[in-house]
Amino acid sequence: MTIDKFKYCNSLTSYSRFLTREVKIGDIPLGGSNPIRVQSMTTTDTMNTKATVEQAIRMIDAGSEYVRITAPSLNEAQNLKEIKQELLMRGYKTPLIADIHFTPNAAELAARIVEKVRINPGNYADRKKFENIEYTDDAYDAELERIRNRFTPLVKICKEYGTAMRIGTNHGSLSDRIMSRYGDTPLGMVESALEFVRICEDLGYYDIVLSMKASNPLVMVQAYRLLVHKMMETDRNYPLHLGVTEAGEGEDGRIKSAVGIGTLLEDGLGDTIRVSLTEDPEFEIPVARELVDRHTDRLNSKATHYQIKPFNHIPVNPFEYTKRISEPVLNIGGHNVPVVINGLTDIEDFTPADLVSVGYYYDSKTDKWNISDQACDYIYIGNGSLEFEIPGTLGIIVNHSIWRNHPDREKWYPLYFIDDYLNSEHHSKTLNFIFVDYSGYSKQEIRKIAKDKTVVFVAMSQSPFQISSNRSLLFELMNENYKMPIIIISAGNSHSLLYVATDCGSLLLDGLGDGIWMPTNSINANQRNSTAFGILQATRTRISKTEYISCPSCGRTLFDLQETTAKIRSRTDHLKGVKIAIMGCIVNGPGEMADADYGYVGTGIGKITLYRGKNVVKRSIEADLAVDALIDLIKEDGIWLEKA
Ligand code: SF4
Repeated sequence: MTIDKFKYCNSLTSYSRFLTREVKIGDIPLGGSNPIRVQSMTTTDTMNTKATVEQAIRMIDAGSEYVRITAPSLNEAQNLKEIKQELLMRGYKTPLIADIHFTPNAAELAARIVEKVRINPGNYADRKKFENIEYTDDAYDAELERIRNRFTPLVKICKEYGTAMRIGTNHGSLSDRIMSRYGDTPLGMVESALEFVRICEDLGYYDIVLSMKASNPLVMVQAYRLLVHKMMETDRNYPLHLGVTEAGEGEDGRIKSAVGIGTLLEDGLGDTIRVSLTEDPEFEIPVARELVDRHTDRLNSKATHYQIKPFNHIPVNPFEYTKRISEPVLNIGGHNVPVVINGLTDIEDFTPADLVSVGYYYDSKTDKWNISDQACDYIYIGNGSLEFEIPGTLGIIVNHSIWRNHPDREKWYPLYFIDDYLNSEHHSKTLNFIFVDYSGYSKQEIRKIAKDKTVVFVAMSQSPFQISSNRSLLFELMNENYKMPIIIISAGNSHSLLYVATDCGSLLLDGLGDGIWMPTNSINANQRNSTAFGILQATRTRISKTEYISCPSCGRTLFDLQETTAKIRSRTDHLKGVKIAIMGCIVNGPGEMADADYGYVGTGIGKITLYRGKNVVKRSIEADLAVDALIDLIKEDGIWLEKA
């Protein structure tokens, strides 16, 4: 079928769910018009039936609709039977999913026991040794034939037993064969899954779910979009399991997940989600539920949409990142990193202490400002009053009626609505902010305003569908070739940090937006600040802290991941821009840590192997010496800094 080269969802301008085929998974079907399902994975040793059952029950009670359990070998696959029976005895019929890497025989056994198996096409009967092998077409085809022979028994078993299958590609664990032909790309991820899909289809098996996970939300979003594009081209509609792998813990993990998963859900993609946090699995469920609930409302038409005209020309490539070109105004737009603006309109008379929450600490002894790595660039104080000397890196935005009384005050800038701006004779000579809402401007107005090269637009939407209305505004301005910088303001009515992360992050992933504005709301100023910087970090548009890629852990995990991650974080969280992966096992970890600078990987009980990029540098060190060894390694590379 011929479809538009950039098409990946039903509509960019009105919410519409991509209709997938229904796949039966026990009593809880997935895809089609079924609700978007929430799931998670156990972290216990699969051979420990009691611990696994108890953890599964905690997950189910928290709302997990499927429970995934690792089955690294035949023993664990066999023990799934015990786990299933015990759960049934305790009254839990929740479908179980066996997670398989490298072991076809375990998959073939598990497929006879549980409702679904998950295989990774990067390592199911394929090689992952980080070798660069040149394949001729014939050699490539011969490899595919070998994989077909190895994979066919599992497909036949699934067909016979009515077991569903997820073909789950992970960026970073693509096979050497796929890497040699497609590189480490979204296209490689998609092709890796489709090769296995074609084998299933040749055998008349269609109970397939697909996933394209990555720890980098940008790669993840592009891969899922490309997958749907390719499915649309070939008349396929398999359900999608969405997830950002190794998202980490706490706020960072939640923001990364909301940016990746939320972005796709907003475009109507996704039939089940798993939020992967380095926390106990039951804590993943409320996060997943909050992301899904927004769409339940959308599907039930509780949320109404702006009327937006579809576009003839889409000015961004959804499969490749390109930043929108803008002409800089002071430090906003052009080649500047996106700015952060924090709304502090709930304070009337400011003192220096009020700026601590946005990253500025005044030391009265030295009469100096200490500026953190996450200090915002501007604060918006509305009609407030601020009478002390501000730090040199901070700008103040005030309502234009206040600004008129201080037009020459250094680093004070006015904010207007379009009408106010056009009707006023008083404008800043350096920087003017103007709110623009997709539904509330005319082309003539924009034409007049665009002559002023000091203008920065603030894309503001009252629609519950912020992404489509703000994106449409940006598309229109791009199609008219306007180059003013544009800041994305998260909705005043959005009190969920997850929704803010989705609404701002989604546009940034498409190269749209020169900054984030967090308005005053029920979330405190400090959290708003860290969320804004977290979104910029998750979209890799502005790096302000260390990046942690930590696996959620599972039955293969060889050390206490949560405790170790906390320990590593406490020693390294000042190393801005350094990416550290903390992975539970050697089998999967090195493959899945993707683009980390350093890897800390469990190799055996009490043993850790350290990586620099993809290369082993210290093998099997004692766990209690490993964090120090990691820090020594960073020091050897000359990028260590002592904590301030
Ligand atoms: S990397 Fe972590 S989550 Fe993945 S298989 Fe290993 S221990 Fe399990």
